[in-house]
Amino acid sequence: MKHDVNRPCIVCGGSESRLLHALRFPRIGYPGSFEVRECTGCGLLFNSPRLADAQIERLYDASYYVFRERERDAVRRVALLASQTIGVAQQFSDARDLLEVGCAKGYLMALLQARGWSVRGVEIAASAAEFARQRFGVDVFTGTLEAWVAAPSFAPRPMVLSTDVIEHVNDPPAFLRAMRCAVAPGGWLVLGTPNADSDHRHAHQASWLAFNPFHIFLFTRETLSRLLQEAGFDVVQAYTYTNGDPPAPQPSSGMRHAVRTVAHVSGLLPVARRARDSMLALADRPVSAQTLLDHSDADLNTYLSSDDARSQRRTACRGDNLVVIARRSQ
Ligand SMILES: [Zn+2]
Repeated sequence: MKHDVNRPCIVCGGSESRLLHALRFPRIGYPGSFEVRECTGCGLLFNSPRLADAQIERLYDASYYVFRERERDAVRRVALLASQTIGVAQQFSDARDLLEVGCAKGYLMALLQARGWSVRGVEIAASAAEFARQRFGVDVFTGTLEAWVAAPSFAPRPMVLSTDVIEHVNDPPAFLRAMRCAVAPGGWLVLGTPNADSDHRHAHQASWLAFNPFHIFLFTRETLSRLLQEAGFDVVQAYTYTNGDPPAPQPSSGMRHAVRTVAHVSGLLPVARRARDSMLALADRPVSAQTLLDHSDADLNTYLSSDDARSQRRTACRGDNLVVIARRSQ
């Protein structure tokens, strides 16, 4: 156990924090309890104490949902992610060349590769990286970002995307320094993470989904922007998007019920309707890159014309997921 988490604060250097919530997760085998604390200097949220690395790795193996995600759920998630992040980021760069850090099983890379992008992944979980190589033929480095930038085959890329990763890492400043190496001079970093200042966090308090043992640090636009500037990036845009994905139908509930359920809630976003269609069409069959392309949303710009993209919540950064688009300073 590490007890002096975030002292001094990784963002502001302060040493004072206040208790927000004390949490227990016995269902996933988390031993004892931990606290969610807020730095009084800058508002950064963090878990304390933190499990030893070996303990947290066992928890990932046993409980982390992405490793058990059904293919149709992965397709739906990635179709939304592509629209909500790539669709926005490609306004800044037309290189069509992407490194994804934390690429999991490679669905997003497969989707982009099928559209003509040049892609490469970095993934710490060996089984997920191997799945991406075997299924989609994509190039994935197994290991941490820090190990990748030190590898002989490393070369910086014009755009690097990392979604839902930085909240998991022990040392975000070191992670962002490695990011600066990974991004070519003048290139772009697209960083997505749960938004610690979202309306849902304030409404749900201790039961907010992002408060869990896997999320060591949780960021706001301000705290993430400060860290990025420290690491040598100029923040160009920050926005949030709201989870518009419909709940997955239960396997036992039958396809007709699934169609009704998902159709009911997926009026939120056009892309969610397409994701629903792809989900139903694919069922649990293995997904090839071509079927991913055929069934996922056809237009990466779809999100930009949605109600969520045009809402005040997006620009005020009150939505569920924070995205910061930053340029490597020269
Ligand atoms: Zn602080």
